Amino acid sequence: MSERGVALVTGGSRGIGRAICIRLAEDGNDIVFNYRSGEEDAQETKRLCEEKKVRVLAVKADISKSVECDELIKKAAEFGDGKIAILVNNAGITRDGLLGRMKDEDLDAVLDVNLKGTFYMMRGVSKLMLRAKYGRIISLSSVVGVMGNAGQVNYAASKAAVIGMTKSLARELASRKICVNAVAPGMIATDMTNALSDAAKEKITSSIPFGEIGSPSDVANAVAFLAGDQGSYITGQVICVDGGMAI
Ligand code: NAP
Repeated sequence: MSERGVALVTGGSRGIGRAICIRLAEDGNDIVFNYRSGEEDAQETKRLCEEKKVRVLAVKADISKSVECDELIKKAAEFGDGKIAILVNNAGITRDGLLGRMKDEDLDAVLDVNLKGTFYMMRGVSKLMLRAKYGRIISLSSVVGVMGNAGQVNYAASKAAVIGMTKSLARELASRKICVNAVAPGMIATDMTNALSDAAKEKITSSIPFGEIGSPSDVANAVAFLAGDQGSYITGQVICVDGGMAI
C-alpha cells in the first residue's frame, strides 16, 4: 500500500470507474471502490485490479445516502490503516428528457447521486485528509456541466454543481496542500452512452472535433495524472477529456 493511504473510487464496478480503479492500481495504489447493485461487475473490477498486485476492497453502498457514504468511508479508512490518499467521485447517473416533461423524480434522482453523493463523500473524506495533511480529490463532472445540453437540464445542473463544489473545496483545503480538481469527460463509450439511440450517438460524434468518441482509459489517464506526484501543484481546475468538444 502507498504510505499515504488507499484510493477510494465511487462507482467502480463498470465503465469509467472501473478504468480508473485499474489505472490507479497500475500506479501501485491499493483500491477501495463501491457499487450500487452490480455484484458481478464489481467482482470483475476487483479481479482486474488484483492482477496489478495491489489489495482491493469492493463495498456495496448507495452514495445518494449519507449514512451509506459514512459507512463506506469508514471501511475504506480501516482498509488503509486510517488513511485515504485519493478520493475519486465517479458514480453518476442520467435521467434525460426535455424540461417540460421532466418529472420531479428525475431531478431528485440525479441530484441525489451526482450532487449530494459527491458532497457526502467530499465532506467525510476531507476530514481524514486534513488530519493527514495530504490528499487528492478528483470528481467527475461532464462537458454538459460546462456547455449545457438539450434534454439534460437535471444532469447539467448536477455536473455544474460538481465544478462549483470542486472550486470551493479547493479554496478551503489549499492551505494544507490538498488538491481538489474535476475531470469533465465528453462522450465516452460506456453503458451510460450505449443507452443513447444510434441517431443521437451519430449527432454527438459529429460535434466532436476529433470525430470519434473517447474510451474510459482516456478519462482514467487524466485522473491518474491529477492523483499522482505530477499533479501536486494543480488545484481547483476542470480538465476536459473530450476530443475538443468544449473548445
Ligand atoms: P456507468 O457506466 O453508468 O457506471 C456508473 C457507475 O456508478 C456504476 O459503477 C454504478 O454502479 C455506479 N453508481 C450509480 N449510481 C450509484 C449510487 N447511487 N451509488 C453508488 N454507485 C452508483 O457510468 P459511466 O459512463 O462510467 O460514468 C462515470 C461518471 O462519468 C459519471 O459521473 C458520469 O456522469 C460521468 N460522465 C460520463 C460520460 C460518458 O460519456 N460516459 C460523460 C461525461 C461524464 P452499479 O454497477 O452497481 O450500477
